[in-house]
Amino acid sequence: MSYMNSESNLKHRCQFEHKDFLINDHHRYDETNRCWMTKTKDHGDKKFCVFHHPLREKSKSSVTLMKLISQWNAEQNEKSFVMPKVQCANLEFTGVVFKSNIYLQDAHIFGKCNFSYSEFNNSAYFQGTNFYNETYFENVKFKGKCHFKYTIFNIYTSFDDSSFDRGADFESGHFQKSSFENCKFQHEINFKNATFNKQVKFNKTEFDGKTIFINTKFKSQESIFLDVKFWDVVYFQRSIFSGITIFQEAHFGLEVNFDKVVFDFGPDMSETYFFYAPSFHDATLGQGVDFREAHFVDKTSRHAPSCYRTLKLAMNKVSNKRQEAIFYGLEQQSLRKQRDTPISIKFYSYLYQLFSNYGQSVSRPFYSIITLYILFISIYSIIKFPMNKIFEYLSKGAPDFLDKVASMIKFTTINITSPFKVWTNNNYIVDVFGPELAKNNEVTINIIATFQSIFSLSLITLFILALRRAFKLN
Ligand SMILES: [Zn+2]
Repeated sequence: MSYMNSESNLKHRCQFEHKDFLINDHHRYDETNRCWMTKTKDHGDKKFCVFHHPLREKSKSSVTLMKLISQWNAEQNEKSFVMPKVQCANLEFTGVVFKSNIYLQDAHIFGKCNFSYSEFNNSAYFQGTNFYNETYFENVKFKGKCHFKYTIFNIYTSFDDSSFDRGADFESGHFQKSSFENCKFQHEINFKNATFNKQVKFNKTEFDGKTIFINTKFKSQESIFLDVKFWDVVYFQRSIFSGITIFQEAHFGLEVNFDKVVFDFGPDMSETYFFYAPSFHDATLGQGVDFREAHFVDKTSRHAPSCYRTLKLAMNKVSNKRQEAIFYGLEQQSLRKQRDTPISIKFYSYLYQLFSNYGQSVSRPFYSIITLYILFISIYSIIKFPMNKIFEYLSKGAPDFLDKVASMIKFTTINITSPFKVWTNNNYIVDVFGPELAKNNEVTINIIATFQSIFSLSLITLFILALRRAFKLN
């Protein structure tokens, strides 16, 4: 092939220079960073190839590039293909297998560009390239690392159904409407400082490696991360979401950081799974923020209490009292799991959760009051009728059984309505239990009744507080 000729052709070679030509082992004729093309045209006293001639014809450039790449592919060598800064029209590489590294950085591709169903067996370099038209990288297998740093995607770009085995770098990339649905990102993926000017979709995509969206600008009306799975750490620090943001049904398997992120609306985090407490310190949440049916698995990590406290305060700020209460509950639960929390606090916290779910449940204290009531009626009945006597008593026909039960119910009720009465009025125990029992068990009965009073009053208080909260909130 003409471009593979020896050193004697140096004087005919394209005089365009780019530092990345030095990477090109295959076509390195010398130690210069000159383009390796030998088919050239004069421009003044210099020679340039079809890619780098100042008056280049873009469609001819496209055809030549596609031809050269298919020749290079056919050679089955392991050498990189290096051709930076080309300007061309359409590129059509559907279903092509790129056997080695391909360097097409700093290019200007003016026509539609299609790499769908292709395979990059090694690294792909598109950094700084400007795709002026629709660009398709759908169903692509990127087996090496792919480089799209500072790449500009105009109009529309789709990476749907593609897999990235060795990481992808989209740092400072510039996107208009774009789609990354159903992708599989392994290793690190970087969108730091990138800008999405129009709708972006990451639906059903899996991020298996560290994921970076630091300082990323989502300027579009919609940024959709529906049902995405992040299995490693995710960083969103200082990013800005200007439109509707949806993380519904997303999974965050490790730490996720939304510190200093600004959400103008939402985000919608409903039905989302957080396996670690998410960090939202100094984040700004929009009015529509929604954590309905979100699952917060982490109650034990060191930073969990402060993460939930931050969310609690953020919910208070947007007057979402219901979700404020949920985060209050999560904060208390995770505080309880911390080693340095005093045991007494842990104990009361546990009771508070058990009997009213940190003030969120009206039914729990209500049913507890009923259960407690029945329990104490049973306890007093056992005192009055010891098990061995109850059968004897019932076998006699128990003529006044209902009256006796009624007196137990009365006694239990009085301990709620007039707590501690047992200590001041001894006759009252005698009336209920009879002189003999009252005499022998007075202190025991008094202690049980006192315990019943305290417990019942506490539950009634919890019930009233929960009821008040429920109506005040909504
Ligand atoms: Zn050239």
